Amino acid sequence: HARPRRTRLEHPGRTADGHAVALLANVGDPAGAVAAADVGAEGIGLFRTEFGFLGRTAPPTVQEQVAAYAQVFAAFPGRRVVIRTLDAGADKPLPFVTAAGEPNPALGVRGLRTSWAHPAVLDDQLAAIAQAAASSSADVWVMAPMVATADEADAFVDRCTAHGLAHAGIMVEVPAAALRSADLLDRARFASLGTNDLTQYAMAADRELAGLAQLSTPWQPAVLSLVQLACAGGVARDRPVGVCGEAAADPALAPVLVGLGVTSLSMTARALPDVGAVLASVTLDECRALAALALAQRTPDEARSAVRASLGDVLDELG
Ligand code: PEP
Ligand code: MG
Repeated sequence: HARPRRTRLEHPGRTADGHAVALLANVGDPAGAVAAADVGAEGIGLFRTEFGFLGRTAPPTVQEQVAAYAQVFAAFPGRRVVIRTLDAGADKPLPFVTAAGEPNPALGVRGLRTSWAHPAVLDDQLAAIAQAAASSSADVWVMAPMVATADEADAFVDRCTAHGLAHAGIMVEVPAAALRSADLLDRARFASLGTNDLTQYAMAADRELAGLAQLSTPWQPAVLSLVQLACAGGVARDRPVGVCGEAAADPALAPVLVGLGVTSLSMTARALPDVGAVLASVTLDECRALAALALAQRTPDEARSAVRASLGDVLDELG
């Protein structure tokens, strides 16, 4: 029979043989950060900052942003907090940075691209992050969404450096970035795989369309291959490569991601206890074997079934 459901992460993330994999939370506002700390998250792997910008006609002021970011940092003293700069565009249009009427907004000016025409929005945000970080003990990392090229990664690192933010990284959500991650990680200090968008762009399947669910799964072997390539680039540059897409919250997929070379997993806080339990039950070599097993399949269903069968009892015990 099923065990009572775990509600707290009791230990830092590690495999059965002690390989550390930080288990972090995705949060979208300061209250979410407090809730994630209550669950026992080791830090925040994705703080989505859109909440402060949505539903407004102008960006929040620097002081408004400082107040919000300071609350998030205060929830994780001494811990890693990865804050993502504004990801406007596509499903999150904002009148002051995105153009209305793009024929294909998911392929338009979104994420970091909005800062080309509106550099002040990014600069104000980085100034606010730096100011909030200065009076907190959190280990503040900053990353940009929708980075496609090494030039974009370098430009972002330069902006962060200008604000005294030394730990600048990139989200890998575009297949081009996964294929060439070593180039992007030349100067960017870390990468975080946004598997929701990476899957959307790899499969050319709108993530909002339920009718394309069979395509829109991170179990697609092509997506797993992109994850593997992105991780190889991280190894080449000695940079950590995490995952902050929904894929990290799937207890069967999490050990596969670790086996592919992923160094941290960030997810909705409620998924942390189960993912932590699965991870603690497998060695790093077993994760690598699961990754090889998944990559050897031709379809997402075959990959998921093969991995689930191999994990067997571990998944059943989650209840
Ligand atoms: C992603 O694309 O996987 C991601 C984490 O970013 P968002 O879901 O906010 O687009
Ligand atoms: Mg994304």
